Amino acid sequence: MQVFDSRIYEIVEKAMEGNGLTEQETLELYSVPETSKEAAYIRWAGQELSMQATDGIAEIHAQIGLNATTCPKDCIFCSFARVNDVRKGVYEVPKEDVLEYAKLYVEEGANLILMLTTASYKFDKLEDMVGSVREVIPADMPLLVNTEDMTLERAKRLKAAGAQGAYHAIRMREGVDTTIPVEERLKTFGYMREAGLKLSTCVEPVGPEHTPEELTEATFRCINSKPMTSGVGRRIAVPGTKIADRGMLTDVANANMVAIYRLATGLDYKLNCSANTAMTAASGANLAWAEVGTNPRDTVERTEHGGRGASLEQQRKMFQAGGWQVRQGPSLGWFD
Ligand code: SF4
Repeated sequence: MQVFDSRIYEIVEKAMEGNGLTEQETLELYSVPETSKEAAYIRWAGQELSMQATDGIAEIHAQIGLNATTCPKDCIFCSFARVNDVRKGVYEVPKEDVLEYAKLYVEEGANLILMLTTASYKFDKLEDMVGSVREVIPADMPLLVNTEDMTLERAKRLKAAGAQGAYHAIRMREGVDTTIPVEERLKTFGYMREAGLKLSTCVEPVGPEHTPEELTEATFRCINSKPMTSGVGRRIAVPGTKIADRGMLTDVANANMVAIYRLATGLDYKLNCSANTAMTAASGANLAWAEVGTNPRDTVERTEHGGRGASLEQQRKMFQAGGWQVRQGPSLGWFD
């Protein structure tokens, strides 16, 4: 019988103190074979630590995709990317539908609302949409955007319009599998901080080709950006995209990474994404996303109509299966 690797045991025991890990220790965890007994131990530990971090309470954040207009940034994993030729021309969700989505999400118990756009969505429209959605949701409901890199002026305008933060990420192989320089992303992080917008981020989109070294670098880039929420998200092989034939992580590999992210970062932050399967929700992921409207991981016009967008109810059931309760009311800590 194969002997349990005592070095991995030591690293995980250290992580269980909740103070995080070094880059070297994190690299060693990312190097553990996917289906080993050590990996099972890592997943157990990730779940234990995440449960401690939030007293067993998970959250569901709700995304409204505002448009599917082809995007010139050409991230080859994204169905909106012009280069992929999956989407055609201009498509925007009408404002009345966006407001309806937002009101419904509040009624159904979302903990946070986020609006997503491609880089071809006009900034003035997004600013107006933030202000209009802010008027129909409770004052204590966090409202985020996920949009292109921004200037300081734009970050301040979004804040003034009623946003509390933004989802923003340095993608895996940014600048190689996308046309966006990492420096642009880092500048946006800085402008967001200066404008008072809080950060939701992630190590994503991860595929089978990414090495333990790349995962470790991305993990520490996230940790050092001091986000409100972070974790690891796998890439969806969207049919028709130039990257689809690179394949997808297994649920097991994705769950290992989610657990390692938690162990690497410790108890300092609360919400660990992405709970996209029952297995990740049983391995330390305590943040899931519900999705309506357009979706870069989908090819249909509205992801809730025959696409992959999950409802709040589906995500709630997934968390129950992992032993979580789900927060009632708005996510905490987003308002100054
Ligand atoms: S990921 Fe965002 S920036 Fe990249 S192509 Fe898709 S919409 Fe554009």
